[in-house]
Formats: sequence, structure tokens, C-alpha cells
Amino acid sequence: MLSFYCTRCNKTSFSSTSLEYQYSSDCPYCGGEIIELTKDLKLGEIMLLLGYIDREKLQQALELQKELKKRIGEVLLLNSLINSTQLSQALYIQKEVA
Ligand SMILES: [Zn+2]
Repeated sequence: MLSFYCTRCNKTSFSSTSLEYQYSSDCPYCGGEIIELTKDLKLGEIMLLLGYIDREKLQQALELQKELKKRIGEVLLLNSLINSTQLSQALYIQKEVA
């Protein structure tokens, strides 16, 4: 079973069909944008899916993370790449798919 998350209304939905094979990729509740969540998704990847950061920023943060030995969420927050609302949102999603 696959999990999907709406970036507008924050609802999580489930389906056995991958997003690319679904008739519509809009949220059934609000018509917002849906992202597909895979199990064991890393926090940085969730931020990427949500469009909070781009791949380049994630790469920078991952390198900084090695130096600082902090959690990726902290690194992103410390460098103002995301805000605390975005961090809690991503953490919430990570918990949903875990
Ligand atoms: Zn929605």
C-alpha cells in the first residue's frame, strides 16, 4: 500500500496504485497537490518532495550535517533553509509513513 500526502490540506490518503498510474494526481478532498510517500523516507527527501528545498540545498545541508554532526532538520533550520513550521510539517509526515 502506498501513502499519499496532500500539501494543501495535509490529509494522508492510501492507494495501491502509484501516483503516475492514477487518473488524477489531485487531492480527492481539496484538489491540492499530492505527493507520494515511500516508506523510510528521509527527512531531507520529504522536504524536497514538499518543495521546501531544492536538491542543491539538500546536498549542501547533508555536507554541513557531516561536519556539524546534527540532525538534518536542525542543519536546515540553523541555515534558514526552512522555517520551524516546515520542519514540524516534515517531521509529522515522516512519522505518518514510518
Ligand atoms: Zn487536500
